[in-house]
Amino acid sequence: MTSTAPAPLRDRYDVAVIGLGPVGATLANLLALRGLSVLALDREPDIYRLPRAIHFDGECMRVFQTVGIAERVTPGLVVAPGMKFVAADGRLLLDWSRPTEVGPQGWHASYRFHQPTLETTLRERLAAQSQVDIRLRCEVFSIEPAAEEVNLRLEDMSTGRLLRTKARYVVGCDGARSTVRRFMGTELEDLRSHERWLVVDVVLHKERPDLGDHSVQYCDPARPATYVRGPGLRRRWELMLLPGEDAAAMSRPEAVWQLLSRWVTADEAQLERPAVYTFHSVIARGWRKGRLLIAGDAAHQTPPFMGQGMCAGIRDAANLAWKLDDVITGAAPDALLDTYESERSPHVREFIETAVRLGNVIQATDPEVARRRDAMFAQAQVFTTPQPRLGPGAHDGSSAAATIGEQPTLADGARLDDRAGYRHALLVDPAWEVGRTHERIAVVPADSTMARDWLKRLDARAVLLRPDRYVAGIARDRDELARLLRLATPAPIARARA
Ligand SMILES: Cc1cc2nc3c(=O)[nH]c(=O)nc-3n(C[C@H](O)[C@H](O)[C@H](O)COP(=O)(O)OP(=O)(O)OC[C@H]3O[C@@H](n4cnc5c(N)ncnc54)[C@H](O)[C@@H]3O)c2cc1C
Repeated sequence: MTSTAPAPLRDRYDVAVIGLGPVGATLANLLALRGLSVLALDREPDIYRLPRAIHFDGECMRVFQTVGIAERVTPGLVVAPGMKFVAADGRLLLDWSRPTEVGPQGWHASYRFHQPTLETTLRERLAAQSQVDIRLRCEVFSIEPAAEEVNLRLEDMSTGRLLRTKARYVVGCDGARSTVRRFMGTELEDLRSHERWLVVDVVLHKERPDLGDHSVQYCDPARPATYVRGPGLRRRWELMLLPGEDAAAMSRPEAVWQLLSRWVTADEAQLERPAVYTFHSVIARGWRKGRLLIAGDAAHQTPPFMGQGMCAGIRDAANLAWKLDDVITGAAPDALLDTYESERSPHVREFIETAVRLGNVIQATDPEVARRRDAMFAQAQVFTTPQPRLGPGAHDGSSAAATIGEQPTLADGARLDDRAGYRHALLVDPAWEVGRTHERIAVVPADSTMARDWLKRLDARAVLLRPDRYVAGIARDRDELARLLRLATPAPIARARA
């Protein structure tokens, strides 16, 4: 995408989003859905053209549904049947199969996708929002928080012009080497996994069904490796580099084809990218400092063994956008923003720690350690995707709260999230008259079998879903209902948007 003669910056925005990768673009879209004014900037002239992420989950797809791009994204996706971990002798160690039918969230559990295509779609959607100003080739060089806003100084790198503006809040979605994180003085907690892997993307000349649709983790101590089926003819292999191996030498086409020779040859495919990455596992300590916040890789990084790095960032965006709006408009006290880290940090930690554990299974290069591992998995084990709860925050702490909610289809065929929009939704027993609620809450009668069954399983007459589709709490009687509704509108709406 190129910027064409951008309009002058406003004096002040509700939110400045620094970095327009998948996380920044999702966040900016969600903020725009709530009617906030947004400055969305990136220092690069275009999106990063080579895919990094290749998998996302049903929860991400649900966020894309809210953003309004699910239908556009769907044709480019492949539903993923899961991953198998195999020993050097081909024996199955761990089976992480995923259901291939639509699940309780209204989407499949696991998709393969092409990251640049997704990012293009997110940016096109963003460009259609009138209250969003997008600036590419634009870098922040000064961030000065004041009492009511943050003063920003920017350089338009295509013209060399220096610009000034203000934002009530600034969110750094500026990736692993986040500038905003450094301005905040936030440090990273090291979860101790930093391995070098060669990532190779190829485009096959024609289908090779024998390669399979399942991803495979080759737990071979001689050279741990991963195969992933991408959409269309795209296929990925990731090969662990051994100590002493030179990254540049290993990335040369001759070396790459040699490494891939057991699966594919240069006659059968075009090499799209060989690149060496060090997969880090870190979490920031302090995702918010006053009016500055961070999200996505700026706040956490994980080895890709669960395909969850971007997914976690998309969850950050979904968690944060409605909270920023509630605080900016005065619908909630400023403290609501503190629940962003308290909820999200333990959730993403569980994914990162699980990815590190899986990495330890895959990355064993000592033959004796690998032999003991293989013996431990003498009977192939089944692995299921963790479904962590959010940490303490904007929910009632009951057993259903802080878990991702379901998305039933309603009697008229509409899906719950489409009916609710990007608001709180109260799914309620149709026989229960709940009376008037706040305009920020969509009251949706549970008029279908799917919806009623979910309430039955929750043993509730109503369930309150937050705009990020996590359960805020449930109600069985009028007192519980009154308490639940206060969770959605803790303070009267007082302030206007910028
Ligand atoms: C090999 C590999 C495989 C992966 N596989 C998966 C997977 O299957 N599933 C998954 O969920 N995740 C996966 N990931 C992780 C995923 O790619 C990242 O988590 C995701 O891209 C992070 O998104 P982000 O928007 O936070 O940051 P980024 O995508 O890094 O975007 C940051 C943006 O900020 C901009 N920027 C940086 N600094 C500044 C600045 N100072 N001013 C303005 N703009 C700035 C950059 O130009 C960039 O556009 C993988 C990663 C790798 C490397």
